[in-house]
Amino acid sequence: MKFELPPLPYEKDALEPHISARTVGYHYEKHHRGYMDKLDKALDDDRRDLDLEEIINHAYATGDEAVFNPAAQVWNHNFYWQSLTPEGPTSPSPELEDEINSAFGSLADFKTAFTEAAAGEFGSGWAWLVQDTATDRLRVISTTDAMNPLTANKVPLLTLDVWEHAYYLDYQNERAAYIEAFLEAMINWDFASQRFQQVRKAA
Ligand code: MN
Repeated sequence: MKFELPPLPYEKDALEPHISARTVGYHYEKHHRGYMDKLDKALDDDRRDLDLEEIINHAYATGDEAVFNPAAQVWNHNFYWQSLTPEGPTSPSPELEDEINSAFGSLADFKTAFTEAAAGEFGSGWAWLVQDTATDRLRVISTTDAMNPLTANKVPLLTLDVWEHAYYLDYQNERAAYIEAFLEAMINWDFASQRFQQVRKAA
């Protein structure tokens, strides 16, 4: 893999007023880049030519937390920036919306489930919309610290970072307001719909 961050898919101030340029700047330049630097230092020569998902799965399988944590955090942040859009509000594709209705009842019920998962993660972590490949169904889950659903055969469609560094400068302790801004204004349903189509094709 290349030990370089993918560029942000939008300008740092593009998510304002929901997420400030200051938050995006720290989050991308310090936190995300910091995980990449840690991974670069922790990874031995044998694994440097693997792609990021292979590194994550290998480190998880061997209990190598020194590599797993920064590698998963790099993947999670790459995915997080794509899960947000300044072009909102967006809507799921008809195919994805059908599946959401079937799994959760309605789009509103999905939002309730996602809010509960994102608010209910006690410390640092992530909330996800995933396709569970075992059941071929959509699910909302949360993971703690760096944990990534790929390790459990779940394909992520969207994620929200609920580590405090993602929202504290803008929302202080009001995680619920940040979750609501994500669901109502920033969620990138176009990205999730594309991911869903890929999952469907691969199945
Ligand atoms: Mn983060």
